Amino acid sequence: MTSDASMLAVLKNQLDSLKQQQLWRRRWNADTPCAPKVYVEGRELIAFCSNDYLGLAADPLVIEALREGASIYGAGSGASHLISGHSRAHEKLETALADFFSPHIISGRALYLSSGYMANLAVITALADAHSEIFSEALNHASLIDAARLSRAKVSIYPHRDLTALSAMLASSTAERKLIVTDGVFSMDGDIAPLTEILRLCELHDAWLIVDDAHGFGVLGKQGRGLIEHFSLRSERLILIGTLSKAAGVAGAFITAHETIIEWLIQRARPYIYSTASPPALAHALLTSLTIIAGEEGTRRRAVLNERIAQWKSAINLKHWQMLESETPIQPVLIGDNALTMAAAQQLREHGFWVGSVRPPTVPLGTARLRVTLSSAHTHEQVAQLASHVNTLERT
Ligand SMILES: *Cc1c(COP(=O)(O)O)cnc(C)c1O
Repeated sequence: MTSDASMLAVLKNQLDSLKQQQLWRRRWNADTPCAPKVYVEGRELIAFCSNDYLGLAADPLVIEALREGASIYGAGSGASHLISGHSRAHEKLETALADFFSPHIISGRALYLSSGYMANLAVITALADAHSEIFSEALNHASLIDAARLSRAKVSIYPHRDLTALSAMLASSTAERKLIVTDGVFSMDGDIAPLTEILRLCELHDAWLIVDDAHGFGVLGKQGRGLIEHFSLRSERLILIGTLSKAAGVAGAFITAHETIIEWLIQRARPYIYSTASPPALAHALLTSLTIIAGEEGTRRRAVLNERIAQWKSAINLKHWQMLESETPIQPVLIGDNALTMAAAQQLREHGFWVGSVRPPTVPLGTARLRVTLSSAHTHEQVAQLASHVNTLERT
């Protein structure tokens, strides 16, 4: 047997073991846009699993802007940003984002990247090295964990939302550069990081705060600036990442921070430099998303979303399981066991509802869950129906 063939045998064994542990995952082929009503593999389902919190992914104005962007700029960018792929649309989007966040970031500037995963790799690998220490929240998104590893910094993990532990770790650090790295809204739990207190610790210990607010941007704060607006933060020490694929409904991510940091990223962040610029049409469409988020329509949709969240929380009354405490559109039903979680999702599917089932390694071992996500595009009736099915789920 050649060594290649033995690798295939090993992989096959490991894949079989994933199946046995109920960790097998598959993709579902959707034939319709991301919206509450979807058509998936021959069935109509009501989806409660996307991160399209404001219903912008299928918004007619955003779709039209994407079309317009393609007719102005074409399909692809053709090169990386520093060669020839940077378009007027990318530049306009960055200026609009910097303006939008100017109340919170002193001397701020913004950078648009192709994805949130890439933005996290870019920021952390460009700012941290072997002389740095990263203080990483226990429930951080995988992209932040991978970025910290790639940076070669010392990584110290602090327990979830534990300010006492974080404070002690910072006090005993001798690193030249200290970076605290945290999700804003925690993606699988829906709760939020205590950023006011963390920023105070940054000032006390001369540390920097990197916040990935993928699930707060567009959703929290009066104008949708996310958790930093919710907490009215303003600082030079704040480096904010937001994704533009979730509430903004399109694709990509931004980093906003002090202009010196942004210039450093443009000059030095390898994930940014060595990747082709995303299609300019995406940036063009995102200008429309951002206008909606920041305007009256955004305020209206956030109000509807908050009504749906309140409705859900008051309708849920579980027989067997526990809701995680969350004020955001991410409303997890903690089940624990992988097989029971899959069976619960299957029961809901049979009733015509599509809910995400999240298992390890996305969440810690023994904490598999249904991840219900609400959107302003859901109707009152859809939320009521799902809640009643979730309440009567059987443990099978
Ligand atoms: C989705 C997500 C990302 C990755 O963003 P993409 O644009 O999908 O690559 C990063 N961080 C968090 C917290 C996320 O939820």
